[in-house]
Amino acid sequence: MNSNQQLSNAFEAKAPTKRLPRVVIYDVDEAVSKEDFIGTLANQNEGLREQDFPSCFKLKSKQSGKCHWVIEVQPKTFHSLLRRKKVFFEWNRLSLREFLRPTRCYKCNRFGHISTNCQQAESCPQCGEEGHKKAECTNEAKCINCTEANNKYKLNHDTTHAATDPSCPALAHETDQLISRTNYGR
Ligand SMILES: [Zn+2]
Ligand SMILES: [Zn+2]
Ligand SMILES: [Zn+2]
Repeated sequence: MNSNQQLSNAFEAKAPTKRLPRVVIYDVDEAVSKEDFIGTLANQNEGLREQDFPSCFKLKSKQSGKCHWVIEVQPKTFHSLLRRKKVFFEWNRLSLREFLRPTRCYKCNRFGHISTNCQQAESCPQCGEEGHKKAECTNEAKCINCTEANNKYKLNHDTTHAATDPSCPALAHETDQLISRTNYGR
């Protein structure tokens, strides 16, 4: 083995494995168990099998009595689901779409970890300052993530929004990162 080969093997070993794509299926009856959800999906939708959904979790829906299911799927199943646009479930056809939500900490508001693993001080999602909660905040909106990105990378992002704003530039960047870490099988 020459040194180039050794080098490329070392890189391969170090390359992080990509995450599987996720799909969110909207407004499923909350009473449906995980087993029934997966079993029914597989039964009613040709080409889907129970083993295609090794892991999934629920999200709250705004509609009472309903929830959304997020399923992690192999690339092939992912493309097949997105082509269908909807799945049969009991007497309904449920909408679905790709689930791309960067992890954001509820304590410090930074991306990439959850609050139980947080090593940073709690900050206000509205203004980014420490020492008060959003409900008590009287400051102008200032996004902690865009402010930090501007300082660190000499960027010029608008910072006059809350860290929870869906149009936050730092969120868009994190979403792009998430896409690049996803195995779409192509
Ligand atoms: Zn945190
Ligand atoms: Zn505040
Ligand atoms: Zn922002």
